[in-house]
Amino acid sequence: MYDFLFKGGVYPDFDKKELVKGDVAVKDGKIVAVGEVEGEAERVIDATGLIVSPGFIDIHMHEEDFQNEAHEYFISDLELQQGVTTCLGGNCGKARQRLGEFLAVVEELGGLPVNYMMQAGYNGERTKLGIGRYENATQEQIEYLTKIMTEEIEQGCIGISFGLEYDPGITFEEIMYVLNAQPQDDLFVSAHYRDDSTGAIKSIKEMIDIVEQSGKKFQIAHLSSCSAMGQMDEALPMINEAHKRNPKLDYDTYPYAAFSTSIGSAVFDEGCFEQWGKSYENIYMTSGKYANQFCTKETFYEIRRDDPTQYVVAFVMNENEIADTIANPVCGMVASDGIVRLKSGHPRAAGTFARVLGKYVREDKVISMIDALKKMTLTPAKRIDLDHRKGEIKVGMDADIAVFNPETIIDGATFASLYEKKPEGVEYVLVNGVLAVEHGEIINARAGEFIPSKYKK
Ligand SMILES: [Zn+2]
Repeated sequence: MYDFLFKGGVYPDFDKKELVKGDVAVKDGKIVAVGEVEGEAERVIDATGLIVSPGFIDIHMHEEDFQNEAHEYFISDLELQQGVTTCLGGNCGKARQRLGEFLAVVEELGGLPVNYMMQAGYNGERTKLGIGRYENATQEQIEYLTKIMTEEIEQGCIGISFGLEYDPGITFEEIMYVLNAQPQDDLFVSAHYRDDSTGAIKSIKEMIDIVEQSGKKFQIAHLSSCSAMGQMDEALPMINEAHKRNPKLDYDTYPYAAFSTSIGSAVFDEGCFEQWGKSYENIYMTSGKYANQFCTKETFYEIRRDDPTQYVVAFVMNENEIADTIANPVCGMVASDGIVRLKSGHPRAAGTFARVLGKYVREDKVISMIDALKKMTLTPAKRIDLDHRKGEIKVGMDADIAVFNPETIIDGATFASLYEKKPEGVEYVLVNGVLAVEHGEIINARAGEFIPSKYKK
């Protein structure tokens, strides 16, 4: 007797590179039969007209901030609702707490809504040491930070993330020192680039140098917000060529023409608007005193001074360049870069995966369904060494499954609200064989598990 049997749907077969008809049976947390499946199940679900996909893997997101906010899940629930079953947190150098602190709260909360893996965040630790943004660390400080990174990896983190734009004082040599001290050849390293727009090409070159000199895997974070301001025609061929030379280099990207970060960040330092060819009116405030308004010169400087941690949305990217990063046939994967603060933030946290499938696949037809699904499942699974158990609909794989309607799927969240409207078309989500979402509603938010990296001691 199966636990679940999805009858009459199609699923992505990445070996055949097409969607194929087949039933999918689940028992004890695993996919146990695929194809024409007979037999009884506790729950037989009619999947006619639906795609039975591996659960989406969000390789770049920002986990809950349990230290400064509530001991509650916000972004994890939003991820689950759109079909994400595994998240990689600790991005952009800003793990929102150390792994041990994160896991202690997870235990208190009785589990996780989705599966998690985590990176150690370099910048956060650097800031804790009192090193200023533009300041260079001393050799002694670098050695201390390296030790912390090593300890986090030994605790179960899969690698290290950097946020070079946030702390311009971090030097190339500093990064190389930290990475060379880690013995694992295929350690996962990611970075929020050093500079965007007119500085994008130089930043990408620096990251290519890091991957070539360190030998580690290297993920360029949210490429669109780095170079979708007119630089993509140069950036993408450069990355593709480097990827062909060394597949350890890859990138992720999100499907929105606006990025979000705190208004006090170095991203908004003097000269940023000239660099983007944009102005104060392109910056939107999602919370605080001027919630849901675009900035003026006056409010921009007022909030930057008085409430620098407030998140704002910057509409400074070009739509056609976003599409290029998603459609790129050579490399690249889809990820949200989602971050939620006090229940507000950029809609990418709640809508990224549904938006790619609805807008970029169905409406704009810039990428095929099979290729888009691969960029959200098998490709990120391989990247974080999970492809032996996640990322495909095959017998023996974990039963992380997202069942959606390709005719209706679309994002619902807006810049005004993450919550007002849910994504449409997500019918069923299984996490480790447990039915977690049914017809868009979360019914079990504790089926996920933390997955330590293979380097855990
Ligand atoms: Zn970032």
